[in-house]
Amino acid sequence: MAIMLKTDSAIVEMPFPCVFDSIVALYDLQNELYLMHPYTFLLNKYIDLSLLYLDPNFSFSGSIVIQNPLSDKLEKMDEYVNFFMEEEDDTEDDDDELGISEEMDEYFGQLYTMLLEDIRRHPYVIRVTNRSNQLNESFAGLDGVTSDTYKFETEDADEDNLILSFGSTNYDMMDLLMMYEHGDSLTEEEILFSQYKDGNDLYATEKIENVTEGQIHPNKVAKQWIKPTWPGNRVRYRFDTSNSKVITYTKLAMNVWANASNQAIKYCAVKNNFWNRLTYKLGLNWYVRVSTQNKYYSSSNIGFCPWSNMRLGILVDEEYFLSQSVHEMGHVLGLIHEHQRKDRDDYIIVYTNRVPFAFRHNFRKRCFSGNYSEFDFQSVMMYGSYAFMPDTTRPSMTRLDGSKFQGGGDICSDKDKIGIRKLYK
Ligand SMILES: [Zn+2]
Repeated sequence: MAIMLKTDSAIVEMPFPCVFDSIVALYDLQNELYLMHPYTFLLNKYIDLSLLYLDPNFSFSGSIVIQNPLSDKLEKMDEYVNFFMEEEDDTEDDDDELGISEEMDEYFGQLYTMLLEDIRRHPYVIRVTNRSNQLNESFAGLDGVTSDTYKFETEDADEDNLILSFGSTNYDMMDLLMMYEHGDSLTEEEILFSQYKDGNDLYATEKIENVTEGQIHPNKVAKQWIKPTWPGNRVRYRFDTSNSKVITYTKLAMNVWANASNQAIKYCAVKNNFWNRLTYKLGLNWYVRVSTQNKYYSSSNIGFCPWSNMRLGILVDEEYFLSQSVHEMGHVLGLIHEHQRKDRDDYIIVYTNRVPFAFRHNFRKRCFSGNYSEFDFQSVMMYGSYAFMPDTTRPSMTRLDGSKFQGGGDICSDKDKIGIRKLYK
């Protein structure tokens, strides 16, 4: 197989591996850099390979490509991400004019495969994977800790499925590399538990309240929704599953929130091609990837962030499927759990010490959120008194007077509607 390679003045036909061999060799020379800056390093490499193919002005002659500053390359890639933004609006007209050709798709497909391989065999990722397996074993005997509390989900043979799942938080492996690159004080435990040893949020209220967006370190906020809302109120999504139940319920949940927002929220499907997957994986193309997990619960990232995932548990009971879908879509739209709001102590008592250690992160107060209405026991984002408790005699949360509560209903409460309308105008 040969790939057409565009250079300054001509289109040269080159066997695919040749191009890669030269570039890869060049990068291998900089092994130290690879370890010091795992994320930027991979970002650079795959941007170079993409630009090499796409942009005749980024001519390929050994190291020239690499000498362009990352900011220039990112700007260039941004143009291409926008140019190739293949989306299907709800007005389904199938206009393929600005599409990606089959040849391009094949090229990006190979880049994508290489990128995944690079990530998989990165020493830091291997370390976290091993560590996560050890933790998994050492916690296996504890109450309420199941074997899938935290683990990498690589065994599903889904090529996109390179995710460390820990409770309700998913870490994409690129995300981990980014944390390693910038997170000077982050230990593996802190990454795995998403908290400091004192149990506080990475951004405890007192530490962050007077800090503006720009001052906060980008690696740590990648999944912490500094900005909960989606640009232009448009949620871009891609189904990475063919499970018809998941697709149906996700669309139902989208409608529930669109209606709740008086149609302020719009959704836009991103096409399932390798360009969109490659640029997503690199953290350059922000949309929510909707997929499944073989579990009794679902999980999502919060708000507009890179590597956003909404994963619906296919073992979830039929009767809870709608509420879980609506709840997860609430996270995607920027909402946190009601019981994690920073004002929650005015309404509830949380018995953190009763909760099995592995689940405690679900009870941390979080400083930023898109929860703009009054505290609401009926919110679809609210859990019940016995959430995460292995036995049902001791609640993890009660009202201030000690009484128990149920948790939210199937769909948005009245206050959820008020809140989402404030968030998405
Ligand atoms: Zn949740």
